[in-house]
This record gives sequence, C-alpha cells and structure tokens, in this order.
Amino acid sequence: MHSSLLLKAAPKTAAETYEAVSRASNEVAGRLAARLTAETCGEVLFSTADRGRYATDASIYQVMPVGVFVPNGAPDVKTALDICRDMGVPIVPRGGGTSQCGQTVGAGLVIDHAKHMRNIIDVDAAHGTAEVEPGIVLDHLNAALRKHGLWYPVDVSTAAQATLGGMAGNNSCGSRSIAYGNMVHNVLGAQAWTSDGNLLQLGVFAGSSGKARELGNYVRTLAEELQPVIHRLWPTVMRRVSGYNLDIFDPRSERPYTADGSVNLAHLLIGSEGTLALTKSLTLQLAELPKAKVLGVVNFPTFYRAMDAAQHIVKIGEGTLTAVELVDRTMIDLSLQNPAFAPTIRSALIGQPAAILLVEFSGASKAELLPHLQRLGELMGDLLLPDSVVEMTDDAPQKNLWEVRKAGLNIMMSLKGDGKPVSFIEDCAVPLEHLAEYTDALTEVFKKYGSKGTWYAHASVGTLHVRPILDMRREGAPKMRAIAEEASELVRKFKGAYSGEHGDGLCRGEWIQWQFGPQINEAFAKIKQFMDPAGLLSPGRMINPPKMDDTRLMRFSPSYKVIPIKTALDWRAWDVQNDPATEQTSAPGSGGDPAQGFAKAVEMCNNNGHCRKFDAGTMCPSYRVTRDEKHLTRGRANTLRLALSGQLEGMNAADAFTSETVKDALDLCVGCKGCRRDCPTGVDMAKMKVEFLHHYKARHGYTLKDKLVARLPDYARWASRLAPLLNLRDKIPGLAALSEKFTGFSAKRSLPQWKRNTFFNTRHAGATREEVLAASKPVVLFVDTFNGTFESHNAASALKVLKAAGYTVHIATKTIADGKHLCCGRTYLASGMVEEAKAKAREVVDALLPFAGRGIAIVGLEPSCLLTMRDEMLVMGLGEAAQTISQHALLFEEFLAREAAAGKLDDLKTRLRAVDQPILLHGHCHQKAFGAVSPIMDVLRLIPGAQPELIESSCCGMAGSFGYEASHYEVSMQMAELSLLPAVRQQPDAIVVADGTSCRHQIRDGAQREAVHLAVLMAQQLRP
Ligand SMILES: Cc1cc2nc3c(=O)[nH]c(=O)nc-3n(C[C@H](O)[C@H](O)[C@H](O)COP(=O)(O)OP(=O)(O)OC[C@H]3O[C@@H](n4cnc5c(N)ncnc54)[C@H](O)[C@@H]3O)c2cc1C
Ligand code: SF4
Ligand code: SF4
Repeated sequence: MHSSLLLKAAPKTAAETYEAVSRASNEVAGRLAARLTAETCGEVLFSTADRGRYATDASIYQVMPVGVFVPNGAPDVKTALDICRDMGVPIVPRGGGTSQCGQTVGAGLVIDHAKHMRNIIDVDAAHGTAEVEPGIVLDHLNAALRKHGLWYPVDVSTAAQATLGGMAGNNSCGSRSIAYGNMVHNVLGAQAWTSDGNLLQLGVFAGSSGKARELGNYVRTLAEELQPVIHRLWPTVMRRVSGYNLDIFDPRSERPYTADGSVNLAHLLIGSEGTLALTKSLTLQLAELPKAKVLGVVNFPTFYRAMDAAQHIVKIGEGTLTAVELVDRTMIDLSLQNPAFAPTIRSALIGQPAAILLVEFSGASKAELLPHLQRLGELMGDLLLPDSVVEMTDDAPQKNLWEVRKAGLNIMMSLKGDGKPVSFIEDCAVPLEHLAEYTDALTEVFKKYGSKGTWYAHASVGTLHVRPILDMRREGAPKMRAIAEEASELVRKFKGAYSGEHGDGLCRGEWIQWQFGPQINEAFAKIKQFMDPAGLLSPGRMINPPKMDDTRLMRFSPSYKVIPIKTALDWRAWDVQNDPATEQTSAPGSGGDPAQGFAKAVEMCNNNGHCRKFDAGTMCPSYRVTRDEKHLTRGRANTLRLALSGQLEGMNAADAFTSETVKDALDLCVGCKGCRRDCPTGVDMAKMKVEFLHHYKARHGYTLKDKLVARLPDYARWASRLAPLLNLRDKIPGLAALSEKFTGFSAKRSLPQWKRNTFFNTRHAGATREEVLAASKPVVLFVDTFNGTFESHNAASALKVLKAAGYTVHIATKTIADGKHLCCGRTYLASGMVEEAKAKAREVVDALLPFAGRGIAIVGLEPSCLLTMRDEMLVMGLGEAAQTISQHALLFEEFLAREAAAGKLDDLKTRLRAVDQPILLHGHCHQKAFGAVSPIMDVLRLIPGAQPELIESSCCGMAGSFGYEASHYEVSMQMAELSLLPAVRQQPDAIVVADGTSCRHQIRDGAQREAVHLAVLMAQQLRP
C-alpha cells in the first residue's frame, strides 16, 4: 500500500478524479483497496511494484494505475464497478495487456480479466457459436473447439496470449481477415455492464429491448443526422478499427458487419477499447476448421511489384483465398542468417527476390485447391513474372514457412540499443490499388528522418506492418510526430484508415478527430456520454485523448535514469547503441548504461506478453502455475526495470534493486532459460536472477541452505565417506522434519542418496591426456558433481558407450591434482556466488582448453552443467578461451547425433539390441533452451525398434535445488503436474528417459517411476 495520502475521494466528476488519481494518491487508494478486500473475493494488488507491473502494455507508454484488481468471477467485477462508481475512481479493463497503443495504460483501477474470468460458458456446435468470458485466451478457446471441427478464425499473431475481451476491445484482426473479417464481423452478442451498473444484453437490434434498445435508437438518430458527413469521411476499407462503430445501421466497411444485413448492437462495443462498458461475456460466430491448405510463394524482383500485385492476387481463389502475407528482403536475410530457418526460407526462394508473398488457399481438400495454385502461377505470368511461384502443398513445409515469418519479426524486435522499432503507424490500411505507391512514399519518409522500416504482414487487406527505429529517450518523440503527420497525409491521399489493426489507445486517440472530422468525433463523444456519463471507463481515451508524443506518458522518456551498478557478469553485449538506418550496433560496452549493460538487457522486454503462452515451449513455468503477472517473465523484467530506474517508490534507488520486492518477483523463477529461447527479444531471466542474487546476497547474506547447495561440489567427496550416516535423514522418522527447520529443504522430499563408491573415487580405464591428443577418434568426458557422486552408473555408462563406439575417451580432471573434481560452477551460480563460480569456471577452462583448442569434443551428461560452458561461462570475463571451449562443449546426445550423422557410429548401431517398450522422453529445460532435445530423439532412434515420444512439458519443477526447498515444494509439484507427471503415469510400461538429475528425482517423487539417463539406456542395449 502507498505511504503518502494525497488524494481525497470526493463526489467530483470522474474527469477531475482522473486527473487527481493520475497524480497518485493514497487515501483513495487505501479506501478503495479496503473496500475491494472487504466486498469481493478477488485479489487486491496496490503495492508500487504491482501497480508498476500493470502500468505498461506492449506500447511505448507507462502510466501508474491507482491499483490493480484481479476478480475471481463476474460478481467481483460488478462489485468493483459499484465501488469505483461510489468513489469516482476510473476503471481500466485489461486482458492479456498486449495492446500496442497503450489501451490498457491508465491511472484508474486496472481490472485484470485474464486470470479467472476465462470460462467457456457454452458451445453450440450445431449452430457454430460459443459464449465465453472475456478473459479466455484465443488459443485456449480454439484448443477446446478443435474436437467440434470448429475454430474462432480471428487469428491474431498474439493468439497464445490475447484474450477474447481484449480482442473485442481492440476490434482485432488476424492474418486471414480477408476470408473471415475482423472481430466486428465475428461477434454475435455481448453482455456488458455500463458504468451505472446496468447489465446490457447486446445483440440483434430488432430483438432488443430496454436500455439496449434505447442505445440503438440513440446511435441510429446520431448516424442519420450525420449521414452525409459519414458517407464523405468514413474510411471504407475493411481494416478500419478506430473510433466507435457509429455505422452499424449503415455499414461503410467493404465487408458488411453481419451476413444477413441485420444490425447488431454488440458491434458498438467492438473496438471501443474499454471506454463504453465492461464486457461480461461474448457470443462468438465460429467457423469450420479448414480441412486442407496449400501455399504459393510468389517471388518478386522488386518490393514495389509485390505491393502492386496484391490487388490482383486477392481476386483469385473463388472464396478459398485465406491469406496474402508479405516477407520483405530484410526479413528474408534475417531468416537466412538463422541456421534453424535458413533451409526453410531457401526452399521458398527463386533466386534473390526483393520480397515474397505467401498466398494461402484453404478448403475441403487439397485436390480442390490445386487449380487455384495453378491460377496463381498463370496470373504471375500475366503480370510478366512467369515461373515466380514456389508451390507448397504438404502441410509440414507450409507450417515451417509460417514459423519463419513469425521468427523474422522476433529477430527484428531483438535489436539491441536504445533505438527500437516503434509501433505507431504500423497498421495504416490503404486500398490495395494504392499499396505500392503508399509503401514507397512512406519508405521515403523514414529515410528523411534517418530511419528505415521493415515491412511485413497483411498485404491481402492493405495493412502492412512497419516500425521505424526511434530512440524515445532522445529525439524519438518529435520524430514520431513528424513521421505520423507525414504518414497521415499519405493515408488521407489514398483514402485509407489510419488505424487498421491495433486500435487507438494513447498513440492514436488524437488521430480519431483527424480521421473522422469534428462532427463525427462529437457524435462519438455523445455515445460515450450516453453509455458512461460519469466518465468512469478508461477516461481520456478515444474521447479527449492526450497527445501521442506526450513524453510524460512514456516508459522511456528523456528523464528516464538508471542507477549505477557494478555487475558480476559481463552484460556489455547489451550495452550498445544502434544506427536506425543500418541497424548496426556499436561496440560492446559503449552504450552508456550506468548498470554496465544489465539495465539495457532488462529493458529488452517490450511487454509483448508472449511469456503468457501455455503452448509446447518452456516459458514460463512459474506463470503457468500461478497465472500472476508477478511470476511472469514480463512481470519480472518490469520489476527489475522499475527498481533499476528508481521507480519503486518509497525505496532508496540504490536499495530497490536488492529489495525484498525484487526478490519476491524473482523467487519462483526456476532459472529454466525458457525465456532465453522463447522470448522474442531474448530476455534471459535465468541469467538476470544470477546477477540479482549476487547483489541481494551480498547485502543480506547467505543462508545455510545457500551454502549447502553452492558448496556441494566441494564437500561431496567428504560427504560420500559418511554416506550411511547422512542417508539416515530419509530413514529415521522425524529427521527430515528436523532438518527442514535448519536447512530449509522440504521434509516432503527425499534427498539424493549418498554413496561410498562414486565415479570420482573409483578407477576407470580412461585414456591419458597424451593418448587422447594423439588419438584418431578422441573425446573428453566431463563428469559433473551429480553424475559423478550420486549416479555414478550414468557416467560409467557414457564411458562404456563412447568406448564401444570406438572413441579414445579421456575423463576430464583438474590440471592440479588436489583430489577434487572439475566443476562448472552451476551450484554457485544458482546461489548467487558468482565469484566462486568464476573460480570453478577458470579451472574448467585451464583443464579443457588444450583439448578444445585442438577441436576435441568435450562431452557432458548433466544438461545444466555442460551447457554452463556454452552460456554463463561466456559472461564471466574468461576471454577467448571460454569461447573456444563453448564451441566444443557438447551434450552426450549432441555428440552422438553429430557423429551418427557423419556415419561414424555405424558399428555401434549394429551392436545395439532392439527395445520392445515404448520410450517417453522428457527434455531438460536447458536442453530445450539450447535446441538439444531433437538430438536425443535422433540418438534414441539409433536403437532398433525405438519409437521415442517427446513429452510436451515445460519445466519439471525441480530445477536444481528449487523443488527441494520447503518454500517451493508446492509450486514445484504443481509445475510437474501440468504435463510431465500425467504423461508419465499415462504410460506405465514406458521407459522414461530424462537426462537431468533433478528431472529424474521429480519423476521418482511424483510418479514413483525410475527415469534413466540416455547413456544408461544406450549402455543397457549394448551387446557384449
Ligand atoms: C507482437 C504483437 C503482435 C500483434 N499482432 C496482432 C494481430 O495480428 N492482430 C491484431 O489485431 N492485434 C495484434 N496485436 C495487438 C494485440 O495483441 C491485440 O489487440 C489483442 O487482441 C489484445 O488482446 P489482450 O487480451 O492483450 O487485450 P488488452 O491489451 O489487455 O486489452 C485490449 C483492449 O480491450 C479492453 N478490454 C479488455 N478486457 C475488457 C473487458 N472485459 N471489458 C471491456 N474492455 C476490455 C482493454 O481496456 C483494452 O482497451 C499484436 C500485439 C503484439 C505485441
Ligand atoms: S519477457 Fe519477452 S516474451 Fe515476455 S513480455 Fe517481455 S519481451 Fe515479451
Ligand atoms: S527462466 Fe524460466 S521461470 Fe524464469 S522467467 Fe524465464 S521462463 Fe520463467
């Protein structure tokens, strides 16, 4: 709760209250929070950090809300609305918070619908309709509809995190809008509360009554009075999403709002951005899932010709054309630079095109669609571009190419430095016949302002995305206005819509009047007044909006400052600036970050919300359990940013970074590195947590648990000698509970069992250094603390397999024989002891450089240990030597897969016995983060009869020591129960392969099954 008490709640107008709240206050906040707590079952989040986490969305803006409310259901929303009305506090409704224009940013009470308001109320498969709560995410809805052969076809790129309420709020549009239209074309009804507490039933006007009827009549009268002006000024392109839909009685859109010509009052809410009513439920028009798709990729010698061709392409297909999407040369080049995507994009290219258009046809069967592909080829011939189409009829290559298109955008968004691609004119829509001229002219505008734009997306409907690179901390704001003004002139010239997909928000509110003129704008204000006379719902948005370039509303304004920090890890790669025209970045360390690059790494989060996804990827396991913004990669990055920039009010800026508030946000981060891979801008929270812990522990000290975890590699060999004694903890009743009190390890957990005989204290027939350096098939085996101490048979099995495959294997040891084994430093990193981790890493570098320097593979078994050599060791100041080692450090499976592909394992293959059991594979998070899961599948397939099945799991929840800790036990088990444990239980006969020590432990604890390391399975299958 706030400490200062500035604002008095008084029965003033909501506008006055809004102004006052926006200056931040406590008395109102305190009373509001107290009432919400007393009168609802929802979560009441009023701390500075909570408010800060909800102060932004995927736009450039930031406004502190007075508080955040997470309702537990519809009655809570209604109660919160009543309380806010009583107190005159504005409301800002929110879904996933992925808006690009600042729609969810405001000074009132933010109501987050996404956590609990996400039920599917009804599906009527026979009529193809569904009724849903506003917080349901599109992908989740579509997953539930699949069994009916149906989907909701407004396929926004943010489908994994966008909610239906937010999509309705923004009148969102998908890649396939040419076939299905926007939200407004696919909503049949809505229940919504107006700010006076009335629940409106909005549907077909002819059947309406009461307040809804009155509303309809009012809007009709307004529209009739303004008919000539509307006919003159209203953009007729389908992609017009700004302003209110005053035209429902006389639709101006080239695509009618309803199939039967009826007037639907629910359409007044679509695109109203939370300013007219709070949506309680939506009734949606579903579509049949297309049974077949084919893709034609048209290659163009110039960008202009691609743009010019779009108007002709959309005329073919006889109703089967579902997408025409652009990928420009910059995107093509970015994709070609990525080894994972290069083969796919290459397969779509003919020569060196300046742009390609992805033309998709969908229908009942491929056979029915093939003639349309052929017609596309003929059309290109007519346009003097014969043989320019690559046909893709199989599903896999099509899917891969769509992935590339998405990845290209991600790479673009990951540009380092203060200049970022800014979204503010990224979705102007122009009639197709002007697309080429428009894009050409806008490119010239960018050049004039020293920037450039990369073009992509929806050529089919004249809405091309483009973001010039601007530095909002410096001259970005005036440049933004200048570009916006020139772009708007072009939009007017071509009779387009200034806002064609992403809505108005803060960024384009002021352009509504520009687009529609003062009379229609006045009518919009009247609709607002009719529905929300108190001005309670998102005031100052759409009606009386602020200036788009008001830097006081921006996340990174010229006054944004970062506190100086001396970092433990090397973050200089992020401490750069970029050239907006060439996108070249300056030398590492030259960016001027007082936090030595750490702050700039944190600021890479642009709030796009992709970490809210629940799909096959890893990111973000803690959010998947709690669904709290605080436990989301985005929430963590925002918390760090607020701390580093002195915005955690009430705290000394220097202390804020090492505060309990930041610790709280990072506490459930399991360091899985899922974000490192899945986050479009590469936010690497696992590494950030290491940096944070280093500073936090330096200030607050290490606990006994920290020391026990971190120093395990050092005391392991002594502890092994005391194995029987130490193992009593799990044998004598009461000891585990006692130890929980002292150590913090959960009594509900068994601990890894100590052994007297370990890999490290047993002799093995490994080659000497000299032998391996001279060998024709050399390899170095790096045995980590866990496999060398607790599960020696894993290391022994790996040795056996490698030798059976004909390799000369040297077991890595320290250069100075002090009786200790080599350690990557992982446990020290996990505890924030970075200096100790560096010392360990140095020993690894000294020991392994002679081999890596000669190109010999360093093979490891424990993903988190081995992959430290490819990740954290590179930011520990160890120079070129660490780079060399990272290039040769391979997981056991990566090495075998590589060698098998080179034909070097042919003998080994003949020695492997067949398996007759199913095999289930759980990939360790770090394996997933480094793309090292498919090699395990490849190696498993070397075993005759093996048909491995990958469990689509996120983190197992154990994550090193995380799951052992009493404070994390419950969350850890919930993470495991999300998908891993149910999948294991479902196949009681399967061999479960898991390379992570902690993953195997979690599977044993949670499903009472013994999972094995790949090396063990391979060794078992070896014939003598
Ligand atoms: C990388 C990226 C790609 C994108 N791609 C697309 C795209 O392909 N197509 C597209 O159209 N958009 C796109 N967007 C914009 C955005 O994702 C969509 O507009 C999305 O539908 C917003 O959903 P949300 O749940 O995040 O809504 P939010 O951003 O949370 O809210 C959107 C609006 O709805 C209002 N609202 C939310 N819930 C309610 C409620 N219960 N009652 C009343 N009002 C409510 C909010 O106040 C706000 O005005 C993209 C954004 C990003 C960052
Ligand atoms: S952490 Fe990454 S995925 Fe999440 S919001 Fe930030 S940029 Fe997007
Ligand atoms: S490291 Fe894992 S748990 Fe932590 S923020 Fe990233 S995805 Fe989430």
